[in-house]
Amino acid sequence: MDSSFSNEFDVIVIGGGIMGSSTAYQTAKRGHKTLLLEQFDFLHHRGSSHGESRTMRATYKKDYYTKMAVESSKLWREAESEAGYSVYTGTDHLNMGPVGSASLKAVIASCEKNSFPYQILDHGQFTDRFSGRLGIPEDWIAVYTELGGVIKPTKAVSMFQALAFQKGAVLRDNMEVKDIRRDEARGGIVVCTTKGDKFWCRKCVVAAGAWTRKLVRSIAGIELPIQPEDITVCYWKIKEGHEEKYAVGGDFPTFSSYGDVHIYGTPSLEFPGLIKIILDHGCQCDPDKRQWRPEPDLDSLKEWIEGRFLGLVDGCAPVSMQSCMYSMTPDEDYVMDFLGGEFGEDVVIGGGFSGHGFKMAPAVGNILADLALAGRADGVELKHFRIGRFEENP
Ligand SMILES: Cc1cc2nc3c(=O)[nH]c(=O)nc-3n(C[C@H](O)[C@H](O)[C@H](O)COP(=O)(O)OP(=O)(O)OC[C@H]3O[C@@H](n4cnc5c(N)ncnc54)[C@H](O)[C@@H]3O)c2cc1C
Repeated sequence: MDSSFSNEFDVIVIGGGIMGSSTAYQTAKRGHKTLLLEQFDFLHHRGSSHGESRTMRATYKKDYYTKMAVESSKLWREAESEAGYSVYTGTDHLNMGPVGSASLKAVIASCEKNSFPYQILDHGQFTDRFSGRLGIPEDWIAVYTELGGVIKPTKAVSMFQALAFQKGAVLRDNMEVKDIRRDEARGGIVVCTTKGDKFWCRKCVVAAGAWTRKLVRSIAGIELPIQPEDITVCYWKIKEGHEEKYAVGGDFPTFSSYGDVHIYGTPSLEFPGLIKIILDHGCQCDPDKRQWRPEPDLDSLKEWIEGRFLGLVDGCAPVSMQSCMYSMTPDEDYVMDFLGGEFGEDVVIGGGFSGHGFKMAPAVGNILADLALAGRADGVELKHFRIGRFEENP
């Protein structure tokens, strides 16, 4: 872009979480003058991309996510080698549930379809393998797969921001966007902040996480069904002397448990002697009026942990809790689409990552950059992510 104005860009990305940061990296890498705007401090803890661990897994009921996860695991490695440090540690992934569980059947079907190696463990085999660490009820089985892992989220966001900066992107935090409008005189898009700054761009990508619904409503009057949920991350204490058995880098996997409630966790990684075990649901919230009082359904968690996690300190209570937000869509599919209406294809929305987006961030960044720069994303079946699906299936 040939511009002598410092406030003019090819692409403006709104939202400095993992999705906005990986998108800004992509557009800058492709040689486009890019601005990344974040309403709070960079690497803040008020959205969805902060903290110490996110799970990687490739087994999905919906095959398009399997493809995206496989692609992303490759792209994570490429970004790491460009940055010169690591954010993603590979592990195996363990799925547990009652015999006949639909979720486990879907995991097995996904492995079969994609030729992923997997092992089914019955109660006896499971006990042999995880003896003294983890147990399952007699009428449960487990499916063991290879493509798992743990990504360090804050470090990963920082990595994409650093890479975007290296490629020439301008990064500005404490810049809350309050308006996005068409530039009627010359075409393109004008982005305005609450502080009175005005920026012009050819294309704009909105990756505003839990704020997406509010922002899109205020700029376009469109109501996207993206519901923020407050999720509580719980860390549990491992008995002294047992820490190594659950440590990342050994043979303890990332895991998902599909019983009455969906529970998941990672090997011990961030806090020595603690392990993350959390519920995959929370309570609806307003991202601007959070209570900061994590109140998870501790009874379900404790009931699940007791008798299963054999190396945790008795008394079973989390020793540390953190708040984070999911952005849920009704079908738990992402939104990656043009905003449409008066904005046509000049404003792209990336949101509604429904609690399973982090692992996909490198692929999502590619797709959002493709949509903004080329108006299409080759090889991606976009119908699953279109805004129009909400009208077809209200
Ligand atoms: C507890 C928890 C566990 C999770 N576990 C996993 C997991 O194991 N595996 C997995 O794949 N995914 C997981 N996820 C989901 C994943 O973390 C999210 O899908 C992902 O972080 C979403 O990123 P985002 O960039 O869309 O949102 P965010 O990180 O919230 O980024 C959006 C950014 O936009 C900014 N913003 C909003 N409005 C404006 C504005 N008007 N102007 C400027 N900036 C604005 C916000 O401040 C924010 O920084 C988990 C999520 C949580 C909460």
